[in-house]
Amino acid sequence: MKKFTRLTAIVLAFMLAFGSFCSGNARTEVRADEKPMLISTRLVPGAKAHGFTLDILSAEEEEGGMLQVWEHDKTGAKVYMLVNDDPERAFGILFKTEPSDDTGRLHILEHSVCAASEKYPGLDVFFDLSSQGFITDINATTWHSSTNYYVASLDEQELMNGADYYLDCSFHGAVRNDPNYFYREAWRYVLEDVNDPLTVTGVVYNEMKGSLSDLDSFTLNYVFRHLYPDSNYAYISGGVPDTILDITYDQLIKFYNECYHPSNCSVLVYGDINYDKWLEKFDSYFGEFEREEFHAPEKYVPKGNYGIVEDKFPVAANTEDLSGRLLYIWDLPDDLSYVEYNALSLLANYENEITSPIMQALNASGIGSAYVLSPYTLGDQRQFLVYAYDADTSRAEEFKKIVDEQFAAIVKSELDKETLDCMFEEEALAEELALNTNGIGVSTVSAITRAIEAQDIEGMILEEDLMGKLGAIFDENKVLPLFEKAVVKNKNNLLYAVTPEPGLAEKNEAALAEKLAAKKAAMSEKELKKLVEQTKAYNEWNSAEGTNDETLAKLVTVDPGKLDVTAPVYDTKRTEKNGVTIVTANIDSDVSFYRYSFDISNLNKKQVRYLNEYIGCLGLSTTTRTQEQVSNDARKYVNNFSARIASQEVNGKEVPSLVVSFYAFNDNLEKALDHVFDMLYNTDITDPYNAAYIGQMAMYSLGTYSDPGTVNSLLQYAAGAPTSYSMALSWYLNGITEYNFLKEAISSDEGFEQYLVGMSNSMKNVVKRQNCIIRVVGSEESRKASVDSMLARLPKKNKTYKAGTVAKIGEKSKNIKTMALEMNTQAGFLMSLYSGDNSDVKELAAEMVALSFMSNAVYIPQFRYVLGAYGAYCGATSDGLVYAQLYRSPEVIGPFADILTTPDMLEAYAPMIEDYMDGFKLQLISQLITPTGKWNMASTELYYLAAGDGHSPEYDIAAAIRDLTVEDIIAAVPAVREAYENMGTAMIATADEIESAKDMFDKIYKLK
Ligand SMILES: [Zn+2]
Repeated sequence: MKKFTRLTAIVLAFMLAFGSFCSGNARTEVRADEKPMLISTRLVPGAKAHGFTLDILSAEEEEGGMLQVWEHDKTGAKVYMLVNDDPERAFGILFKTEPSDDTGRLHILEHSVCAASEKYPGLDVFFDLSSQGFITDINATTWHSSTNYYVASLDEQELMNGADYYLDCSFHGAVRNDPNYFYREAWRYVLEDVNDPLTVTGVVYNEMKGSLSDLDSFTLNYVFRHLYPDSNYAYISGGVPDTILDITYDQLIKFYNECYHPSNCSVLVYGDINYDKWLEKFDSYFGEFEREEFHAPEKYVPKGNYGIVEDKFPVAANTEDLSGRLLYIWDLPDDLSYVEYNALSLLANYENEITSPIMQALNASGIGSAYVLSPYTLGDQRQFLVYAYDADTSRAEEFKKIVDEQFAAIVKSELDKETLDCMFEEEALAEELALNTNGIGVSTVSAITRAIEAQDIEGMILEEDLMGKLGAIFDENKVLPLFEKAVVKNKNNLLYAVTPEPGLAEKNEAALAEKLAAKKAAMSEKELKKLVEQTKAYNEWNSAEGTNDETLAKLVTVDPGKLDVTAPVYDTKRTEKNGVTIVTANIDSDVSFYRYSFDISNLNKKQVRYLNEYIGCLGLSTTTRTQEQVSNDARKYVNNFSARIASQEVNGKEVPSLVVSFYAFNDNLEKALDHVFDMLYNTDITDPYNAAYIGQMAMYSLGTYSDPGTVNSLLQYAAGAPTSYSMALSWYLNGITEYNFLKEAISSDEGFEQYLVGMSNSMKNVVKRQNCIIRVVGSEESRKASVDSMLARLPKKNKTYKAGTVAKIGEKSKNIKTMALEMNTQAGFLMSLYSGDNSDVKELAAEMVALSFMSNAVYIPQFRYVLGAYGAYCGATSDGLVYAQLYRSPEVIGPFADILTTPDMLEAYAPMIEDYMDGFKLQLISQLITPTGKWNMASTELYYLAAGDGHSPEYDIAAAIRDLTVEDIIAAVPAVREAYENMGTAMIATADEIESAKDMFDKIYKLK
C-alpha cells in the first residue's frame, strides 16, 4: 500500500530538525548481523571511575544490551552508554539549546561549531572526516530544544577519534577565533565588483529558504507561532531567512560561550565499547570546567483556545493549484506519561484506518485529499493533531465541526478487540525485525537525544515493558477516557489554515532586492570597496589548501591496507522447477523474507501504467474480504509488504518486473500468502467506496509532485532516463506522464471510469509460471514450504510468452539529455546522472575514489561554500551510477556548465590524489562492508544470484578499492570523462531562471 504507507512516513517526518547535511555517498544499509549480547561487568550503581559516578545500571539482560548512566562529579555532565556487541558503534553529544528569536542562531552554531576546532584546524574538518574517515555515519542536527552531533564507526579507536573531534569542537571551536566560518555557514554579503548588485548568501540562509518553501514544512513550523505565542516555542529554531540576516558574529559567539558547557551537556555511546576508556576521555574535556547551573526551560502555560488562525504561503503569481493545509492541533497536558502518549499514538493509528468513522466522514467531505491523526512533539511540549492535505481552506469551519463531532463519537465508541490484537501482533513482528535496518547505533543515540530533549528520559529510555503497559491501558478500556481528557475536552487548541498566495513569492523577493539595493545605495564608495575586498578575502580563505593533512592524520588512524574485506558466505541455492527460477538462502530465524518477481515484458506500456496504479491500491477491500479483514490480516501476517514495478537483472538482462516482497513469521506463511494473493488478484477497484477513495488518492498523489522528497526522486529518474532502462521505466511510471495521466483520470467521469476499468484488468497476464522468480531467505523448513506453496498458487498452463511494448520505454527519452522542470521554488535542484556499464570492478573502484576526491576538492568548496548550496556532491555508486547533485541552491543554471568540466579538473588534480587516497579508500570501504542485518544481506545476495552474477559485488569492490594505486585512478579518468559526456541532466528551477537559459534544454516541463 505505497500511497497509504506514505502518509505514515509523512507523520514520522513531522519532527522538525535542521541538519548540517552530509551527503553519505553510496551509503549501504547498515546493521549488525546478530542480536547484540549483554557484556557482563561487575558494575553497581554508585561505582566511581575517572571523576564519574554510576547513577543507573539496567538491572536485567535486555535486548539492546546494558544501559549505564554516569554523572560527572565536577560538572554534572551526563553520560549514557548502551553497551553490547554491535560492531557498528556510535557516539553523540548533545547541548540543551533553545531559540529566543528567528535568527536560527542554534542552527548556525551547529553548522559552524562542527567545522573545525583548535586541536583540529581546517576549513571544514567535518566534511573531510565524513568523506575520508572509517566512518559509517556522521551528522549534526538542531531540534527545537537541543543541538546534537553524532558519528558512527566500525572501529572503536576511529569512533573515539571522531568523539574527540566533536568534544574539541564543542569546547574549543575554531569559529570562536575566525568569523569566516560564520560568513560561510550563516550569511554574508557578496559584492565581487562595485558595479554589481549587492547579494546575500550563506549555507543556513539558503537551507532555510529551501526548507520553508515546502508547504508542509511551512505549516508545521509556523503553527507554533500561534499555539505557543510569547514563548520560545513560537520561534523557528532553524531560522527564518529574512531574520537570519539580523544575527552578527559577536552575538553568535556570546551565545556559544553561554550554552556549550559540560553542565549543559549529555554524551552518548553505543555498541561494543570499553566504558572505562570513554569516561577517561570525557573527563579530560569536562575537567577544565566548573559546574554551572542551567535551568530547564520554563514550562509553557497554555492560554486557551485560539480559534481559527489563517496564514498565507508565498507562491509565484502563475501558480494554479491553490489548495492549502488545515491543521487542527492540541497542546497536550504536561502531566501525560510516556506510556499514555504512546497509547494516544496507537489510538491515532487505529483511527487512521480508512474504515474508521472519522476517516469516512472526512473523506466524504471532500475538503482535502488525505487526512492523518497523529501525536507530535516540539522540544518538551507535546501535541495531538489532525492534518488535511491539499485542503480547501475556505472550509476550515466545516473541517473543525466534522473533527469535533467525530472526536465526541470516538469517546463513546467501542474499540474493536480484534483490530487491537492485530496492532499488537504487528508490533511483535516489527520488534523481531528491529535489528534489520540502518544504523541502530545512530538511531539509539538519536532516541536518547530526543528523550533528553523531551525531558522524558525515564519514560523513553528506562521504561521497561512498554508494550505490556500499553496493552493494559487498552485491556482496561482506559484509552478513550484518556483521549477525552487530553484531547477532546482540552481547550488549548487551534485550527491553522494555510493558503497559498499567488504573487507573494515575487513580492518577498522584490522586497529583499529593494532592501539590498537600498543598503548598497546608502554605502559610501569606501564602504563598497571594503565589501569587495571582504568578498575577495572570504573567497581566498575558502579556497586555501592543505591545512588538514595533520588534522586528518590525527583523526583517521585505521590503515586501509589492513582491513579485512572478506565477503560473508551465505548458504544459497539456485534451482529451476517447472519453469520457475528459485533462489534461497538459509538463515536460522522465526521470520523469513519473501520476494516474488514476475517478468512483465509481455505487457504493453499502457497496461504497465494501469498495473502500477493497481498495485498502489493493494490493501483496499477485496471481493472476498472486507476492509477490516484486509487491514487486520495485513497487520497480523506480513511486515514491510511492498509491490512495485522495477527493472530487475535476470541472467544478465534488464527485465521489467512486478516485484512483491514481505516478511512473515514462519508459522504464518500460508496465511500471509493467502492475504498477498487475495490482494493481488481480487482487490475490488470498482466497489463504490473504494473507487471514491482511489479518486481521492489520485488527487493526493498529484499534490505530492511539489514535495521535496518527490522532487528528488523525479530528478533522479529524469536525469537517468536517457542512460538507463531502469531509470527510464521509473521516469515513465512516476514522472510527468504519470502526472498528466492522473490529472486526466480525475478530470471527467468518463476518464475516471476508464481509469478504474484499466486498473481492474491490469493483473491479467501478469502472474505466470514461466516468468516467475522466487527468492526466500529463511530457515530450511520455511523455504521449502514457501516454494511448494507458491508453486501450487501459480497457474498450471501457460500460453506462449510474447513481448509487449513495455521494453520500448526509454527509447523516446534517449533524445532528451537535458531537461528542466519549472516549479515555484525558492532554491533550485540539479542532478546529472550516468548509468554506466561498469562490469570492470577495478575501474568502478577507481571511479569511486576519483569522484570522492572531486567532491571534496571542488564540489563542496565551490558550490557549497562559495555559492551557498545546501548540498553539493558527486560520486559513483556500487551499482555503477555516476552522479553529480546540487540541492537547495540559490543558482543552478551557472554551475551546470561547471559540473561538466569535472573530468578536466580531475585530470589537473590527479597528482594530488595520492596524498588523500587512504582517507577516501577508508570511507568507501566502510560504506561497502557495513553489515546490514542478516535478512537484508542474504536477500541482496539472492538478487545477484538470480541476476547471474553469483554474489553481491560490494566486497569485491571494497577489495579492489583497498588495492588501488594512484596510477589506477589516473587511468580511470577517461572513463569518468565518458560518463560526464554522456550524462543526463534534470533541473528544477523557477520559470525565470529556466527562461534565461532555455537553449540549454532539450525539453522544458511545466507542472500545471
Ligand atoms: Zn542545517
